[in-house]
Amino acid sequence: MQRLYRYYNVTIPVMTDLDTDIQYLKGVGPALAKKFQKLGLAKIGDLLYYFPRGYVDRSKIQRSGELPACAGQHILLCGKIARVELRQPRPRFYVLQAEIRDSDGIFSAVWFNQKFLAGTLVEGVEVLVSGKAVYNDYSRRWQVETDDYEIITPAYRAGITPFYALTEGLTQKKLRQTVRLALEYLPFLTDPLPPDLKTKYALSALPAAVRELHFPVKREAWRQARRRLVFDEFFYVELGAALRYARAKTELNGIRFQPDGALLETYYRSLPYQLTAAQKRVIDEVLDDMAAPQPMNRLVQGDVGCGKTDVAIAALLCAVQSGYQAVLMAPTEVLAEQHFARIAARLAALGVKVGALLGKHTPSEKKEIYRQLASGECQIVIGTQAVIQEKVIFQKLGFVIIDEQHRFGVVQRQLLKTKSAENADLLVLTATPIPRSLALTIYGDLDRSLIDELPPGRTPVKTYHVTPRARPRVYEFLRRHLRQDEQAYIVYPLVEESEKIDLQAAAESCAQLTKIFPEYRIGLLHGRLKNAEKAEIIQRFRTKELQVLVSTTVIEVGVDVPNATIMIIENAERFGLAQLHQLRGRVGRGRQEAFCFLIAELKSADSRKRINAMVETTDGFKLAEIDLAIRGPGDFAGVAQSGFPDRLLADLVKDEKLLQAARSAAFALIEQDARLSRPEHALLRAELRRRSRGLIDYILLN
Ligand code: ADP
Ligand code: MG
Repeated sequence: MQRLYRYYNVTIPVMTDLDTDIQYLKGVGPALAKKFQKLGLAKIGDLLYYFPRGYVDRSKIQRSGELPACAGQHILLCGKIARVELRQPRPRFYVLQAEIRDSDGIFSAVWFNQKFLAGTLVEGVEVLVSGKAVYNDYSRRWQVETDDYEIITPAYRAGITPFYALTEGLTQKKLRQTVRLALEYLPFLTDPLPPDLKTKYALSALPAAVRELHFPVKREAWRQARRRLVFDEFFYVELGAALRYARAKTELNGIRFQPDGALLETYYRSLPYQLTAAQKRVIDEVLDDMAAPQPMNRLVQGDVGCGKTDVAIAALLCAVQSGYQAVLMAPTEVLAEQHFARIAARLAALGVKVGALLGKHTPSEKKEIYRQLASGECQIVIGTQAVIQEKVIFQKLGFVIIDEQHRFGVVQRQLLKTKSAENADLLVLTATPIPRSLALTIYGDLDRSLIDELPPGRTPVKTYHVTPRARPRVYEFLRRHLRQDEQAYIVYPLVEESEKIDLQAAAESCAQLTKIFPEYRIGLLHGRLKNAEKAEIIQRFRTKELQVLVSTTVIEVGVDVPNATIMIIENAERFGLAQLHQLRGRVGRGRQEAFCFLIAELKSADSRKRINAMVETTDGFKLAEIDLAIRGPGDFAGVAQSGFPDRLLADLVKDEKLLQAARSAAFALIEQDARLSRPEHALLRAELRRRSRGLIDYILLN
């Protein structure tokens, strides 16, 4: 990444008043500015975009009689202070307690470590307090543990009040106050969106929208404001994607690969099975792209087990038969190794030399691969991120595959491509299905192919939810199938904070299982093993020397043993939906019927939803949609690298229509101005840079 900076002349956008440091705002200063920095807020402009995480309607004041009914919840009370007491139960710990009278009687409110309030919260003052309703065992009374307060002055207006995410040493009050000051700079906030675009999509004015989102006045105005700001969040991400896409499409200096050739012919003939219609269609799409003069940028999406490897191999062979080298990068060592084992074996028969770059290799082994790549002796290399390293030099690289499970960002993709002296074709594979709306944004710059069919003869994995009490019955079931020469996985999640304790749990269960199944061999796989040890255990499982593989989550990606038919997942409620789906995908890869048991105690509503979803469907895309609805997009790896702000106002599920509108708008704009170089788009360019914070847009815009 460092290297690229030298190639591209990075210019810094012009300073405006919105770039003023927060510390120059009235009442902030350097000490408080540090605290704001913890929230990622350095400039006044940052504050403007630091939207509230919620609002409280101050016209909905409750009464102290409701305290018991609100136990543990947030409550908003108002009253006159009758008495105030400041105590110091331990050194450097202060409790300020106020007795407050409202129409229902007297209640108390406490502030921790805010000694300075003793001067403000005095007898006779009318005050609005909000916080958690808690029963105090010691005083045997209900009280409010305050998170916010406001003294009712004649200037006070009831209404909607914003709540911000805080950090230690910052109060709601201070944040609100500072945001209000920042809003005075709104006149400096120029709207980069072209006026006709705003008209077309009925977007409200930017400065007014920002103000309304912080301090809403009317519901409809707030809705419009939010719509405008969500549009912007999507629009700039899509603008970056559209730029990359347009750049690739207008370049005609890509490689024209030869899709017709002896290697591919031989490969098709040597296949032990018929490719599915979906595999054939996707291979055609890929090969068409490769033959075209534009560099390919294509994503192949497909559920676990749909047969992406054959698509990858066809593309690799097309590159090789056209006289080019190719590279395949995988996110983990296990996955890279697996790809290597399978692809190398199949290509060796065709006389193609495939090398691997893995962590387990010694420096001298690596050196040998470097040499073979530089000389062109080795035609394909498969590895982890090790393949990006500077030492890796190709004689004639023309084709790049990234199997990414959305773990890599745009930057890594680009880096790998820079290893080619020509304009290499790029293929991205993703096994984890992601919801459509997310795919649109994370992979917004790629053409997409979907393998929407599984090889024939597979029956969907039968999935059951069982409680821990039913475990013995699951084991009986397991025994019957082991007897028929089948194999099984038992997976334990990360239960404890410490990996050591986890390992203990898995090791103990393994020992127990050995007692329960003395006639079978059980192996234990966990994260603390060295890569070579892991590989050895997996190998022993593959050769049936082991019948049961007990594992912490390391098998999540990469193990392909068609004879394994049973997957037992312990504490299944602790796994995310995507993970569960991945794990289940490890079985049902052969022709035999496969089973998945989710052992779980369903305590929370979310875990119930997840487990039910797993039982009801094996469709990875459906599961991904459900997952997005349950978790929100923040946790989906890849979202962070796609240029979204950390705190997203948008809801990728509910705002999908707006996302599509923003995408059309962005692509239409880039169609008019492919490099965003027209003077009337200068502000857009600057805003895109500000938001993307990434390297890629510098590359594209300079
Ligand atoms: P993915 O990478 O998409 O998860 P793989 O390429 O690993 O899937 O394929 C899963 C399994 O299915 C492999 O054992 C593979 O040999 C097999 N397979 C792939 N395509 C077919 C097909 N058309 N017919 C039968 N089996 C297939
Ligand atoms: Mg091409």
